[in-house]
Amino acid sequence: MYLYNSLSHKKELFKPNHENIVKMYTCGPTVYHYAHIGNLRSYIMEDVLEKALRYSGYNVKRVMNITDVGHLASDADTGEDKMVKGAKRENKSVMDIAKFYTDAFFSDCEKLNIKRPDVVEPATNCIDEYIKIVSSLIDKGFAYFAGGNVYFDTSKLDQYYVFNDHNEDDLAVGVREGVEEDPNKRNKNDFVLWFTKSKFEDQALKWDSPWGVGYPGWHIECSGISIKHLGEDLDIHCGGIDNAFPHHTNEIAQSESYLGHKWCNYWFHVHHLNTDSGKMSKSKGEFLTVSLLEQKGYDPMVYRLFCLQSHYRRNLVFSWENLDNAAAAYEKLIAKIAALNGNGEEVDQTVFAQLKERFSKALDGDLNTSVAVTALYDVLKAKTNDATKLAALADFDQVLSLNLLSAADVIRKKQAEEEAASADPEIDALVAARTDEKKAKNFAEADRIRDELKSRGIEIIDTPQGAKWRKV
Ligand code: AMP
Ligand code: ZN
Repeated sequence: MYLYNSLSHKKELFKPNHENIVKMYTCGPTVYHYAHIGNLRSYIMEDVLEKALRYSGYNVKRVMNITDVGHLASDADTGEDKMVKGAKRENKSVMDIAKFYTDAFFSDCEKLNIKRPDVVEPATNCIDEYIKIVSSLIDKGFAYFAGGNVYFDTSKLDQYYVFNDHNEDDLAVGVREGVEEDPNKRNKNDFVLWFTKSKFEDQALKWDSPWGVGYPGWHIECSGISIKHLGEDLDIHCGGIDNAFPHHTNEIAQSESYLGHKWCNYWFHVHHLNTDSGKMSKSKGEFLTVSLLEQKGYDPMVYRLFCLQSHYRRNLVFSWENLDNAAAAYEKLIAKIAALNGNGEEVDQTVFAQLKERFSKALDGDLNTSVAVTALYDVLKAKTNDATKLAALADFDQVLSLNLLSAADVIRKKQAEEEAASADPEIDALVAARTDEKKAKNFAEADRIRDELKSRGIEIIDTPQGAKWRKV
């Protein structure tokens, strides 16, 4: 599989460090509010990446953190902790907020067929790991204590801006809210590893540490959790593009300084879901959730298809019109699948392999999901029997996860129920009687029966398979 690597700015042939196991890390949600559909775009595309890797034969171990402490209003370590802000907003405890929004996140993921990662670790579970890494960074001279906090000293690195196509202005994109000068920092980009002092004194969760009672910075959480569960080397690290700076840049700085060697080989960044007023974001207050889409009558699968129809490295613009187009496409697709009937047929393995090859090629070309979706239409148009088509669709849906066959089953059942509901033995008998009269050349009587049915709102349709009827 070729994947674009944000580190090298090139598409590279993907090769994991260890044969047959891919170690994958995903930055999880900050659970102070519902995930918006922009966040979920990132998680959908990361889910497809994981499934595509599995589809091509790899075992994947995927780890995700849950940020329940230390993510401040600005990604540049200033402002109030988002969790504390959320707790105040709802008059609840931080832990109650964390539990509620973690559950809400996984419920949204389930609706969107986003597989739960193998390991999900709340940041508050791994305080000892962070203390160990921060202590070692101080010992090695990469971190310093100032004004009550421990900072990473970015001047100690040969290269700090590892995703170096960014210029300073672009870098500010990741710094989501107003940045205040922190006089304790030796260098502009130094970042906090451990806080004991903040102007927001009511931080809810605090732990003992060698530097005083306090709490970890957001960036150290992902390094600590990844190293705890995946060891010293990582194959792929994922996240939304806004995480590239400062979050991922800082993760690399501290992890590699701590480990003394390269940490992660491939960086997979999903570009943003935008509205006409820019990036959808929680901090702006107004955002769309999966529940809201459902309330408006959209199947969550429609949103998944909407995301799959565009490449993960392009910004995607959300509008209701665009979503309606995806809804119409999904409905048509499922109706076509519902019309297939492979009963009693054998899968043509040669055609199946050809169809599969086209699909794999799309995924292997930097996860080109829009072409992979087109492969579904190629299946429907293919000159082969229905059993082969259904087998190919089921196979592709292991990666696309669009409920293709189960949604088609629902339609088939509905059609059968409608037919059963409209069954009427008396009308059936009259239609049969008319057929008999016609056969016996009693045309006047046959016409009389037809007129009687007509007066009751029933129309007879003569077909090569015999007479049928319908209500008009
Ligand atoms: P957060 O809960 O704010 O930490 O964000 C969770 C994930 O969603 C991160 O990987 C972000 O980079 C990503 N993200 C945030 N906003 C968007 C957006 N508008 N479109 C796509 N991904 C986003
Ligand atoms: Zn992270």
